[in-house]
Amino acid sequence: MLKYFEKLYKKGATSFYEIVNYNLKIEQKMFIVTANPETFTEGSNNKDFDKLLLDNNTILIPDGIGIVKAANMLKFDVLERITGIDLAIKLLDLAEENHYKLALLGAKPEIIEALTKVLKEKYPHINIVKTENGYIENKDVFFEDLVRLEPDICLVALGIPNQELLIYKHLDKFKKGVFVGVGGSFDVLSGSKKRAPKIFQKLNLEWLYRIVKEPKRLKRFYNNNVKFIFKIKKLQKSL
Ligand code: UDP
Repeated sequence: MLKYFEKLYKKGATSFYEIVNYNLKIEQKMFIVTANPETFTEGSNNKDFDKLLLDNNTILIPDGIGIVKAANMLKFDVLERITGIDLAIKLLDLAEENHYKLALLGAKPEIIEALTKVLKEKYPHINIVKTENGYIENKDVFFEDLVRLEPDICLVALGIPNQELLIYKHLDKFKKGVFVGVGGSFDVLSGSKKRAPKIFQKLNLEWLYRIVKEPKRLKRFYNNNVKFIFKIKKLQKSL
């Protein structure tokens, strides 16, 4: 697990966005994983996911507060969170400014439809080259078709670990593009789910808001976050 923390991007959102902007301009391919405790736990339990996280070309950013807190406990100097949803919004802004090609895969059919509509209104200069819902059986076909469209940005919202595994499987076929797994972001960006109010965001309590709104998340939260903290405490003692 320490290796994941070593790899985390530590310098904060502003400098990270500059790198993303630059890489888009020079058409340097990027695979970004937005890390939560669940991400690192999956890496410890799943060989393929571990390989993907440790690949030199994979960039890990600290999405969840649990990751930032754990990193600090382990004496890694992580400046701040860079959330998946904020990164997605930043990418959309850059796409609007530069007329980039955008591809979207994931979420329920009605959500991806609503999202496409919202984006077309709000970001008229984005070139949306391909969209697909996340419940089609063969998702490989999406990527196989996407290669010839050469997207600048590809957002995949299937939940962890599927979104990352799928991107990683097809990444070699692409010459350029920023690829990111964005979890439940399409639900929020389409307007069908509310993001936690600003006060929750400020206090780093978005996770609490999501549990209160969707109590079935509690088990997932316990399995990934509570157990994770115990693991980090143990690791801390062994250092
Ligand atoms: N999803 C999907 N296909 C699936 C399973 C999930 O497209 O087979 C979508 C789901 O509709 C949701 C997203 O993946 O939009 C995962 O959201 P979740 O809130 O679980 O992600 P988190 O942000 O918590 O990682």
